[in-house]
Amino acid sequence: MLRLEERPAPPPAEDALAQRAALLEARYGDLPAQEVMELVLREGIAGRVALVSSFGAESAVLLHMAAAADPATPVIFLDTHKHFPETLSYRDELAARLGLTDVRSVAPDRGRLAVADPEGRLFASDPDLCCHIRKVEPLARALAGFAAWITGRKRFQAHTRRRLTVFESDGAHIKINPLASWTAGMIADYLRTHDLPRHPLTRQGYLSIGCLPCTDRIAGAQDARAGRWPGRDKTECGIHLVNGRSVRARLEAEPDPDGPLWKAGAFQRDVFTPAGDAGELPAGPVIVSKARWLAERANLAGRNAPVGLLLAAGERIDDLAADLSRFDLIALDFPKFSDGRAFSTARLLREKHGFTGELRAVGNVLSDQIAFMRRVGFDAFEVSHAPSRRALAAGRVPEVTLHYQPATRPEPPAGTRPWLRRAPD
Ligand code: SF4
Repeated sequence: MLRLEERPAPPPAEDALAQRAALLEARYGDLPAQEVMELVLREGIAGRVALVSSFGAESAVLLHMAAAADPATPVIFLDTHKHFPETLSYRDELAARLGLTDVRSVAPDRGRLAVADPEGRLFASDPDLCCHIRKVEPLARALAGFAAWITGRKRFQAHTRRRLTVFESDGAHIKINPLASWTAGMIADYLRTHDLPRHPLTRQGYLSIGCLPCTDRIAGAQDARAGRWPGRDKTECGIHLVNGRSVRARLEAEPDPDGPLWKAGAFQRDVFTPAGDAGELPAGPVIVSKARWLAERANLAGRNAPVGLLLAAGERIDDLAADLSRFDLIALDFPKFSDGRAFSTARLLREKHGFTGELRAVGNVLSDQIAFMRRVGFDAFEVSHAPSRRALAAGRVPEVTLHYQPATRPEPPAGTRPWLRRAPD
């Protein structure tokens, strides 16, 4: 018998996943795509699985197979907010036609976009980061709870995919590529045989369709994916990169020592622009009054940029409860030091309505108040009072450790507050 120290160490989780993928490949990798789909979706050979689809040029094949095996298959579509309108229409039409009942359009985090891509032009200056925010991060969130995901990748699409296997590991999931060995001819035959509609842009010469700013028609004998990120040294969006070129996640806040916004311990550049109650909205993230939100709700909600809400002291919030998830931040005004109404509104937002966006204190904000404001849920502060600014810049933020009343933050131990009022467990 091996002594404990002589036993081989168990493989790390990543290695175990790679071994499992290799086993699945050895056992099922040569099966026809339809059989792989049935084994994966009906028999669960890879665990809980989702299909990730771009609803692109050839997506109908795999979606058709998924619908045949199980119409309730979770289908994840990464809605980058940069797609061709034709893609969004095609997604809806195809899903309805195939009877797919669980198509999930997953959007990028609006807060991340507000910081890193407020103008929506990051694709031009840093496409890796743009893809990371608009695709990689949303996919990671969407795949939480799934053991495996299915992709439509094929070897013929690009020289970078020539060694693609049906089963592989991405380090965290089993990845399944049932069409790995398919050719363009097989795709065309399948679409024809099953009378499946192609993406409308294929008629205009687009053979691989991604986001509008990063997709072009291709000419001659180029790879089908040659029209993606034309003119750039970029071939993948990042959701399929593990050991390849790394993608970056540089979202540090930009410092702005002269600006009023103090957040996470530093003065930062404010990406939001206050909009007046009328007139043209500024580009990028805006902050609007309640009156303007109510007057222009449809237009504002449809904007492809974050929206913040400014509430005057005492303005009601309950009548906006259904809209709160649309706001990336809510700014509450303190018209004077002695006006505490915004404290109550902040607690209502955090505790009653579960608002999780940025809660910003604006108006007459002094450094002495910040500890109390934090207790009721504020996490950003506009500070123009000069002595307060100097104190904050120097890292002097008064802390108050003992409290009479419960609040939204973790409570000090019982016995440290004379009235012993307790926050509900
Ligand atoms: S494909 Fe282009 S627009 Fe779409 S996420 Fe990537 S860089 Fe951004």
